[in-house]
Amino acid sequence: MTDSNRKKVLYIEDDAESRELMADILHLHGYRFLGASRGLEGIRLATRELPNLILMDMNLPDMQGYEVTTLLKSIDALKTVPVIALTAEIDKGARERTLTAGCDGYIAKPINVTEFVQRIEEYLEGRKDTLDPREQSKYLTEYNIRLVEKLQNKLEELEKVNSSLSMINEELTQSREQLTEYNNRLFYMNNLANLLRMQKSPDDLIRMLPQKIIEGFGIDRCIIFDYDSESEKLTSITHAGIAGLRIEKLKLKLKKEFYYHLKQEMKFLWVKSKEEILDPSLLKVAQHLNSISFVLSCIPGMGSSAESSGIFLAIATHGGLESSENISIEIPKKMIIFLDRGYSQTPFATYEIRILKAFLQSTSIIYENMLLYHKMMKLYRIKEQEAITDPLTGAYNYRFFASQIEREIERSARHKKPFSLAMIDIDNFKQYNDTYGHVSGDKVLKLVAEALVRNTRKSDIVARYGGDEFLIILPEMGKDNARTVAEKLCKIIEKTKFPRHRTKKRVNLTISLGIASFPDDGNNERVLLKKADTALYAAKESGRNTVRISA
Ligand code: GH3
Ligand code: MG
Repeated sequence: MTDSNRKKVLYIEDDAESRELMADILHLHGYRFLGASRGLEGIRLATRELPNLILMDMNLPDMQGYEVTTLLKSIDALKTVPVIALTAEIDKGARERTLTAGCDGYIAKPINVTEFVQRIEEYLEGRKDTLDPREQSKYLTEYNIRLVEKLQNKLEELEKVNSSLSMINEELTQSREQLTEYNNRLFYMNNLANLLRMQKSPDDLIRMLPQKIIEGFGIDRCIIFDYDSESEKLTSITHAGIAGLRIEKLKLKLKKEFYYHLKQEMKFLWVKSKEEILDPSLLKVAQHLNSISFVLSCIPGMGSSAESSGIFLAIATHGGLESSENISIEIPKKMIIFLDRGYSQTPFATYEIRILKAFLQSTSIIYENMLLYHKMMKLYRIKEQEAITDPLTGAYNYRFFASQIEREIERSARHKKPFSLAMIDIDNFKQYNDTYGHVSGDKVLKLVAEALVRNTRKSDIVARYGGDEFLIILPEMGKDNARTVAEKLCKIIEKTKFPRHRTKKRVNLTISLGIASFPDDGNNERVLLKKADTALYAAKESGRNTVRISA
């Protein structure tokens, strides 16, 4: 017999050994065997293979044999395929239950092979086990009741699944809202960090910080304190949202040990409840501020570590700071930021804390960089000024004069305008020096330089040439105007009373001036200086305290 002529018998049974045994029996008797270990698998296989007969174990792992039978019988193509219950259930009513569920026959296990094969034959030929109609209706009712109970259980299970699904859904909505909020805050934080970076000075940055934190991070109050680790005092520098709290009146202190602890904790501390506060000084601060849940952070200013302030001081001293009297490198400020939800008392969410922490830490870095930049700029400007200034008189030095006269020559040539150069020498200064001493002489040089600067225009360049000689560049000034200015200077110095060492008496001094002009007397520095020097010599020759113009 070819395989396709054999009758197909499907056995739905979870026990592999029983399936194997059945396969042997059926093969031996000329049937084609199909096996399924689960109800759904059996239904799938039956639909695909359309067997001639289905044997059904009534206890399957995924569903009851009754349910499988009902489902099989509801499929059009399988309606006429006999389904035979093969079961070890031999209790009273087992047979009736299976027949009521729609089985066409019932065979009790264990089987007698000969009898079994014979029964299979009979079923294949159309035998149908039936029930007494009265009994059938009794079992049908029972079956239906059981079915309803089952459905109810399923319904309850579904409801449970549904409610946990809606819980998950709610959580998801919440997470989505949090994510949106998280995103908004990150965006705000980023913009704020940029805004802080653009501030003109570190002080501006600190001053704007509290209000910005309140606006963007859902915080009620923000106070920035200056912390003095010597006195352990907290002094409010700036704040926002503390209406009604007279912060200056509160005498707040924080122990040094606690400050160092805060620094160690990545400069950030989140206090969730009063019980968490172990430090008594912090507990007092919390009581004064009437807060039980808050965030503390510190901006240690420049030199968050000892090393970086060390580096800065080293740069400062190597730069020759000793020579500048009015510059001092102040010890960096330590700042403590206090944040809370003083009014709403809504607890912070972890994600909010994470963002705040990141923000405050980057603010700290921005602040530190800004401080460093500003101090370096201050130093740079001092050095820059020093590089062009004569240290004794405060007038420009010769090097700067040389660069400026170069520029003036170019500029005047371009605009076809004249300019003049005045060379000044104090009369008989050697004698003054010899009489009153070098210290008084130095003072005179300084006073003369100041008088020259004070009595010329801002755009004029007054420089010390060396010794008791000075140079003045007078832009856009021809010979006549230059003479007027020079004569005025002569008169001013003549009238000035200069100090005498160790006495209150004062003496008079005079100056002589020689003038040369561009372009009439020359078109380069060397020639102009030479001509001015010759004119100055002529002034000295003609009796001093006078002005001579280069011819
Ligand atoms: P004259 O009218 O011809 O210019 O006479 P003078 O005595 O001023 O002669 P001269 O200009 O040649 O002398 C310059 C003097 O200036 C010499 C020196 O004693 C003094 N001198 C130069 N540099 C300094 C300085 O830095 N400090 C002081 N106190 N005196 C200086
Ligand atoms: Mg002189």
